[in-house]
This record gives sequence, C-alpha cells and structure tokens, in this order.
Amino acid sequence: MSATTALWDDLLADDELAHLTGEPARDARTAPFPESLSAAVRDALLRRGIAELYAHQAQAYAAARDGNVIVTTGTASGKTLAFNLPVLDALAADRHARALYLYPTKALAQDQARALAELGVPGVRAGIYDGDTPVQQRREIRGSANLLLTNPDMLHIGILPRHDLWGDFLHNLRFVVVDEAHVYRGVFGSHVANVLRRLRRLARIYGAEPRFLLASATIANPGELARGLTGEEATVVEGDAAPRAARTIALWNPPLLDAEAGIRASALGEASRLLAGLASRGLRTICFAKSRKSAELIHRFAADRLDSATAARLAPYRAGYTPQQRREIERRLVEGELLGVTSTDALELGIDIGDLDAAISVGFPGTVASLRQQWGRAGRRSHGLAVLIASEDALDQFFMREPQALLDRHVEAAILDHANPRVLDGHVAAAAFEAPVDESDAATLGEEALARAPHVPELQYTPRGWVWAGKESPAARTPLRSTSPDAFVVVDAATGETLGLAERERAYSTVHDGAVYLHLGRQYLVRELDLAAMRAVVEPFDGDWYTQAKKETTTAIEEPLRVERRLGLELSFGRVSVTEQVVGYQKKAVADGSTLATVALQLPPTTFDTEAVWFVPRPHQLEGLEAMPLLLSSLHAAEHSLIALLPLWAMCDRWDIGGLSTNLHLDTGAPTVFVYDGHAGGVGIAERGFDQFEGWVADTVRLLAGCPCERGCPSCVQSPKCGNLNEFLDKGGALKLLSQMSNSG
Ligand SMILES: [Zn+2]
Ligand SMILES: [Zn+2]
Repeated sequence: MSATTALWDDLLADDELAHLTGEPARDARTAPFPESLSAAVRDALLRRGIAELYAHQAQAYAAARDGNVIVTTGTASGKTLAFNLPVLDALAADRHARALYLYPTKALAQDQARALAELGVPGVRAGIYDGDTPVQQRREIRGSANLLLTNPDMLHIGILPRHDLWGDFLHNLRFVVVDEAHVYRGVFGSHVANVLRRLRRLARIYGAEPRFLLASATIANPGELARGLTGEEATVVEGDAAPRAARTIALWNPPLLDAEAGIRASALGEASRLLAGLASRGLRTICFAKSRKSAELIHRFAADRLDSATAARLAPYRAGYTPQQRREIERRLVEGELLGVTSTDALELGIDIGDLDAAISVGFPGTVASLRQQWGRAGRRSHGLAVLIASEDALDQFFMREPQALLDRHVEAAILDHANPRVLDGHVAAAAFEAPVDESDAATLGEEALARAPHVPELQYTPRGWVWAGKESPAARTPLRSTSPDAFVVVDAATGETLGLAERERAYSTVHDGAVYLHLGRQYLVRELDLAAMRAVVEPFDGDWYTQAKKETTTAIEEPLRVERRLGLELSFGRVSVTEQVVGYQKKAVADGSTLATVALQLPPTTFDTEAVWFVPRPHQLEGLEAMPLLLSSLHAAEHSLIALLPLWAMCDRWDIGGLSTNLHLDTGAPTVFVYDGHAGGVGIAERGFDQFEGWVADTVRLLAGCPCERGCPSCVQSPKCGNLNEFLDKGGALKLLSQMSNSG
C-alpha cells in the first residue's frame, strides 16, 4: 500500500462501507509508430513527447485503413489520439481531404479543438461550426477548415439541408468522427442515426464514402451501437492498453434510520463528511451530485466542517462557465490551490479538470458508463479513490448489496431504433428536401426509409423519385430529442429562454401547473401550462418539495410482434397504445418524502403508440395470491421493481419507461403486467427487456429478497413516478410471483 492510501484509510473504516475493493495498477502495452504514419504527424507527436503508441491506438489506426472503427476503451486511455491519428494522417497527406467531428456539446467541441491546436500538425485547419459561430465567419470556415467540429443539431438543421454550400467539403469527406457515441442512444440516438444516414447519402451523391470512427464509453454492445448509428459494420477496438494507477473503490451506504420506511441518513451529509475529510488531508477531490441544489448543499455542509482557510479551498462548479473560467478552475486544482469541487453530474461531459486524488459520486448517475466517467477523474497518475454514495433508490440499494452487479458486468447496452416511424418520418422528409429519394438510396437511408416515403405528408412521387412539396426546410420541424414534432416548449419566464422540450404524452405529468421541473440539475416551478400554445412557463425554484403526478393509465394491445414461451408463461413483445390522464399531483417534502398537499388537475387524456413487453402469469405462479386486492398489489409491486432494474440491461432512465399492471386486462382476459417504452413509437428499450427477460427477472428477485424492509419501501417496490402514488403494493406477493416465474425457467 502506498503512502497515499493511508491518508484516507481511516475515513473508510466506518460501518457505512458496503464494499471495498481495488483495481491494481497496470503497465502500458505499447506499439511503435506505424510505418505508414506520415512524417508530419510523427514529428508533431514527438514534439509533444509521445514516442510510441498504446496498442489499442495502433490497432485503431490499422483498422481505420480498412473500414469503420469503434473504440471503447476506458476514460483517459488515449481514445482521442486513436481516432485522431488516421484523420490527421489523411489530412497531412492530402490537402483536399476533409474530416467532420461530431460532439454532443459545444464545450466538448471546444476542448477537442484546443487539443488539436496544441498538437499542431502542419496542414490541419480545424474550425468549430455551431450555433455560436458568428455568421460572418461561417463562409470562411466552410471554405478553409479541413477538420470541422460541430454537433448533430447543426448537421441536421444547418449543414445537410444547405449541402449546396458544402459541395466541396462533402466531395472530399474522408472521415466522420463520432465521439462520446454512447450518448447517442434512446430517442436522441435514434434521430442521430438518421442524421448520419442522411450524411452518408449526401456524401455519396457528391462522390465520397467517408469512414466512420466512433469512440464510446465502455458498453455491452459497441458493435451494435456503431451499426445502429451509421448503418454500417465497424471493427470493435476494446483492449485498453493505457497504463493505470491503482484505484481504491468504495461503495458507501448511508446508515439505515428506519428499516421499515426505507429511510436512510442523507447521502448529501455523508458526501460532505467525506469531502471535508479528504480536503483536510490535502487530497484533491471532485464530488458529483444529481442536482445543483444538492451540489450546493454538499459544498456548504463540507465548508462548515472545515476551518476557514481549508473551506476557502472548496468551490462549486456550475453550468455556463466559459472555457476560460473552466481553465482557471483546472489550473487552481492542478496547482493545489483548490482541494474540492462539487458539480452536478449533468456536467460530466465537458469537464476536463485533470488528475485528482478522489472522485465521489452521490447517487448512481443512471448508467455504469457515467459512473465510470466520473470515477475516471481520480487516480490517473497516482493511487486514486473512487466512491459511490448510495441514495434510497432501488437501483442504488441493489448495487450496495450486489456490488458485483455494478463492478464486474458490462451489462448496459446503448439502444436505439432509427426505424421508429415517429423518428424516421421527419428524416425521410428532410432527405427528400435535400435531394429526391429513390430506390438507390436504400443503400444509405435504409429500406425502412423508402417504405415510409408514401406515408410522409408533403412528399410527392415524381419520375425523379420522392420530392419535397412543402415550402420551408422540414428538418427544423424535427427536433432531435423528441419523438413528437408537436412537443411542448418549456420556457423560463424570467429570461424567455427555452429550457427544453416535453413530448405531449409526458408534458401533462412533468410540466403541469404547479409541477417542480428539473433541468440540468436546476429546479423550476411551472407557473402555467398553456395547452393551446403548447408552452410551459417556469420560474427558478428554491423550495424543498417535489411533485408527483397522479394519473390513470390504460393500455390496449395493437399487435403482438414476438410471442415466446419463457419462464413458464407466455411472454409477448409488440405494439400497444397507452392512454393516460393526469388527474392531480402531490407535493412531497424532499427531506422525508411526506405528503404536503394533494392538488386536483383537469387535463385531457393523451394516447400514444409505443412498444411494450407484457406477460400473463400462469395460475400456479399466482398460487396464494388470487384474492383481491392482494393479486393487484402483487402485480403492481412486481411491475415497479422490474422497471427499477430495466436500466441495468438497457441504458435508459426509469423515466423513459412506463408500466401498467391489472388483475384483469381486456385484451388478455387475465392478470397482466405491461412494461412499455415511454417514448412514442418506442426506441428499443422494451424489446431489450423481452430479449433479456430471464436475467431481468432473476435480478429483480434478488432486489426484492435482499431489501431489508418488511413490507416495501423506496429501495424496492415504491417508485418515484407511480401514477397511483404508490398505493396497492405488496412486496411479499411480488417476490413470490417473480420467484415462481424464475423457478419455471
Ligand atoms: Zn424495501
Ligand atoms: Zn405504480
């Protein structure tokens, strides 16, 4: 054990420690520069002190000569150089060659542009082209940059529809880099997959066949993600050959105060205690919280525990910092002026604050990929400490009891479905606007796009193919983060700024009058939901309650697509329509979840089509549970706990999933549990549940069996989004049913 370890050893001696493990240091596996690497790139690397490559960088370089590549090595493993090498090589060798880099955020594009400038390969002219680029500079960048950094929205709305301005660029397009590819999943990913297909098509029209180089956090299905996003196969490069310092990993569970109610000591309090302890030992620490309010509280509590000189060396880190301000924080951290930074986890993308001693994640950030990225901030060069402090949420508590489920498995898969008609149709229209769509485009846009063309309004069939008969460019009408073109906009009353979009089917439950709305870690109170204008007007909110909508849900089976005998019952996947009516909401105290008020609402019902997985338990699996309301309560609790664990299998948020359980469903004539994709049309989440059903149910049995409560709590069967406000839940019944099913397998 190194001397550093001793500095935090006593902090980890508490009962709260649910699990302690370590990752050993690892030596680099290196490879010489490839023979074919151009002298310009080789010299630039040597000037930066890089005299050889990591094995995975050399492998990616070699693979990129033959086709598309996806690199999925760990945080800080030199992924950037892995995709930069083939690109820089091509640009240095051919002054006509062009490359396009896609980043999900402007901050990341700026970081990458800076890194490229520092590398200083002669002949490489990088330019950022995004919403912030002044109009008068755009023409110049189009003409001069041979490495263009942009984001999917700009590509979708600004570049592809105006391809006539980009003819030269598209004709010479050799490489498309898609960094942080795991971010492109779900609805957003399904849209981006279509944007990339439109890009491939236009490049082909201009005579180019660009290679795609993708980089992703570690996920279960990198090859599938690359294929889903680009429509083409890619070589997977995943052997991480970068050196690594040893890392201590601690899973930290706040003490249980009330086992029956599932109430634990505050995770924020535990985080501030740990942060203060680490800072007072001179260890540089970053702490990630789920909301800005939480981040500020952790900062304040930690400062209160320290003497004023040490407290002055802690700082919160907020959204909206300029690159200069971020550099300043980075410099202060590197030089040891700052010891502790608290941040919202929404900011994990785009933070580049160097090498720290410790990283604390307060609450599971939703995906293992995000957690690994947060932890990756600690101990790159010297022994680091990575901590997860659990919330009361079911998934967090599951990990505390089953650490291997978190630490060992690459369980999550990044899922998308570009062929969802609700997503696809807008891109078929956009493609037809860009150039007439005919049979030959099936090779790039996919057969599905041609099949949808007759159904897209304002497309006309002509001898040249399908053409756009509307007036303005259709791309602007297809937002990339929604499956409904008619989404509600959420507007900040004070600034007039649009904060986000809420799909109609979700707007009534998330931005109704009086709702507390969370956006990028900040809280807002909805002042008014204007149904006619499709607008929610919100204001910043500092109160200590949250809201939970009460709604009535029904489902109708439209078409089973896959039906299989699984776990002793008939398991179905298919299309359903979901009708929801929000009838009221509860105000609940942040401190203890107690109900402060119940308010009635009058909102119209909404119906949307989506995909669902559903099952009808066999009578012997329901033995002893037949009486009402036990039957309903058992099914309902089973539904909730299944939904809580589906994100283990498909990278998504429990807010992306809905459910319904009933003792008698009209279409099946029997007790039935539905778990459905919360986005119209579905993006593949429910189907993943169908494919992984056995493992999913087995994990859920472990969740229920392991929770220390007697009759159900927020860490097992209660759900923060239950439309029935968590009434009629029977933990024992759910455990019995799911165990019977598991035993049937
Ligand atoms: Zn429980
Ligand atoms: Zn419920």
